[in-house]
Amino acid sequence: MIGKIKKKLLEPKSFAFQTESLICPICDRFIPVSQKDAHHLVPRSKGGRSTEFLHKICHKQIHALFSENELAKTFNTAESLKSDPDMQIFIHWVKNNFFWFIAFQCFEYIFWLVILYSLLNLGPYF
Ligand SMILES: [Zn+2]
Ligand SMILES: [Zn+2]
Repeated sequence: MIGKIKKKLLEPKSFAFQTESLICPICDRFIPVSQKDAHHLVPRSKGGRSTEFLHKICHKQIHALFSENELAKTFNTAESLKSDPDMQIFIHWVKNNFFWFIAFQCFEYIFWLVILYSLLNLGPYF
């Protein structure tokens, strides 16, 4: 996992892409590379071609709330998605928890290392 992250950091391409400051059109927050997901505003199955970059979590939420038909007919822009009351509850939640959400996503491997380390060191204490 660490090797993967190192590789990502060393890759000039992905780094250059990251500095392009992608903003999620749903929650208006910066998207770290690890959280980037492409969403078809009109589903591919309905002939949609253009994509928009969103957070993985925002993307999941859209597909959890709306069917492909609804997306194609009604919710085919970021604005219409944002105006939905269910989406607004979610956006409100994301905005309040964004720091912890991103902190966990970015430093997940450190969290796991700490957990693993403390597990390995249980011996002397118990
Ligand atoms: Zn978002
Ligand atoms: Zn999608």
